[in-house]
Amino acid sequence: MKTIARKIMAMVIAASFCFGLASCSKASKGSKLNTVAAGKLTMATNAQFKPYEYHEGDKIIGIDAEIAKAIADKLGLELVIEDVPFDSIIAGVQAGKYDIGCAGMTVTEDRLKSVNFSTSYATGIQSIIVKEDSPIKSIDDLLKGDYKVGVQSGTTGDIYMSEEDGGVGEGRIDRYNSGNDAVIALTSGKIGAVCIDNEPAKSLVAANPGLKILETPYTEEKYAIAVNKSNEALLAEINKALEELTKDGTIGKIIEKYIPSK
Ligand code: GLN
Repeated sequence: MKTIARKIMAMVIAASFCFGLASCSKASKGSKLNTVAAGKLTMATNAQFKPYEYHEGDKIIGIDAEIAKAIADKLGLELVIEDVPFDSIIAGVQAGKYDIGCAGMTVTEDRLKSVNFSTSYATGIQSIIVKEDSPIKSIDDLLKGDYKVGVQSGTTGDIYMSEEDGGVGEGRIDRYNSGNDAVIALTSGKIGAVCIDNEPAKSLVAANPGLKILETPYTEEKYAIAVNKSNEALLAEINKALEELTKDGTIGKIIEKYIPSK
């Protein structure tokens, strides 16, 4: 009798301990995953890409920050965000410095040689920002002229614009650490246009009077989360979490919060 009572007591204590941890299964799932820092999901981003990631006070917020937090919660891991230059994210994930790169990052053939990507959770398209009174009225004007184009270093905008065929060519590219730095160069007349993803382009135009966005013929890019090639277990868990978060409407709600459809 006494031992049974003890056993029950032990079970009750174990159960309430589990309850205290919020969820036993989540905690044990997190501990099984191999991450850069135990119990943590270390995410590299470049937090100058509103509405995907940006600073608000001492916090980094945005679509990617919230989606990554929702994934980390499902995995029983604590999300840690590292704000680094965009062009160091892939190399850092590849080198095992960060678990994931989540930065409005487009899946490209070239990047797939260095990292794996999760299923896509959003899309983007390259936009061209010019001054409202610019003689550049179309992408053709931009390509034919001799204007300098500002890009964020290492982005798909950089890659497309640097091409001789379809872009303006290497000689007319000015590379910046952020879209905002490129826009400062545009407003001061140093460059003729900025090429950047459409949602950050809208945010930059909204924040800087006297600018507008040109229609572009570029194809849609798929944003996904970069994961180290050797960590297939983490990739599988992220994809599972993304599927659940899509199905239950969480991803849709996060995107709608930052990019209202009306
Ligand atoms: N989508 C672009 C890319 O992946 C830009 C991303 C960014 O600047 N954060 O290159």
